[in-house]
Amino acid sequence: MLVLGIESTAHTLGVGIAKDQPPYILANERDTFVPKEGGMKPGDLLKHHAEVSGTILRRALEKANISINDINYIAVALGPGIGPALRVGATLARALSLKYNKKLVPVNHGIGHIEIGYLTTEAKDPLILYLSGGNTIITTFYKGRFRIFGETLDIALGNMMDVFVREVNLAPPYIINGKHAIDICSEKGSKLLKLPYVVKGQDMSFSGLLTAALRLVGKEKLEDICYSIREIAFDMLLEATERALALTSKKELMIVGGVAASVSLRKKLEELGKEWDVQIKIVPPEFAGDNGAMIAYAGMLAASKGVFIDVDKSYIRPRWRVDEVDIPWRN
Ligand code: MG
Repeated sequence: MLVLGIESTAHTLGVGIAKDQPPYILANERDTFVPKEGGMKPGDLLKHHAEVSGTILRRALEKANISINDINYIAVALGPGIGPALRVGATLARALSLKYNKKLVPVNHGIGHIEIGYLTTEAKDPLILYLSGGNTIITTFYKGRFRIFGETLDIALGNMMDVFVREVNLAPPYIINGKHAIDICSEKGSKLLKLPYVVKGQDMSFSGLLTAALRLVGKEKLEDICYSIREIAFDMLLEATERALALTSKKELMIVGGVAASVSLRKKLEELGKEWDVQIKIVPPEFAGDNGAMIAYAGMLAASKGVFIDVDKSYIRPRWRVDEVDIPWRN
């Protein structure tokens, strides 16, 4: 079985091709929109994705050395994400489905991140941290679904760090030589400033931390603010994670999503792993950020259990949660 997967939920237009046997991933092509200044505007994402989608699709087929006719199913990330961006991928998927008479497979973007994590880290039964620009979720598989133990109550950890560095003119670009701008700035910081630390049960809140940190700009050394906001945010995440580990007794901790590439977070997680006798499994960089391969792969798993959607019902779902998705391919 060959599945073509389309990702367009946020800044990345990606097309991947997955097979139901090793090596599983045959292609993973993408183009990521980087704003010259400010944040991501939905209209700019739409324009970018529409412009690059044809080229990325062609590149993925070339890389896999197959023709579109060899594909069995078209998988598409219908959500969660930014409406205008989602619509580009959904429109492309519907067009391919109709033109080439291939069934459509609906994929939740978060499930894509999680499943590519299982594939690439070989985790068996992990507690999962799904950390990206838009998501901060602690989850594990239980009785047919990924159940959420903890999550952010407002903005995501990744988004909080991005907005902070942007507001203080350290970004864009957000990632320089593989390091996030907040990590580069933090390297020269050492003083831990007083900032709000908010963990409620297993849930976290980052928006107050962001506001308070921005208020310190001009009053404290910027490097100390970077260092403090990062340390406090990571400590909040680690506290919620430790509670979930204590509750579930899991022996593996899998980290997926774009923030998984953070070197400073990785160090902290490795220490936590030693303390709790838990194996830390981090998705490799190629599959950490948004990509089409994870949509193709999760789509392949779903198609193997007969999960399809009619083209005329394939609406985008901007607020589709991972715990709303039945997972018939796991038990
Ligand atoms: Mg993502």
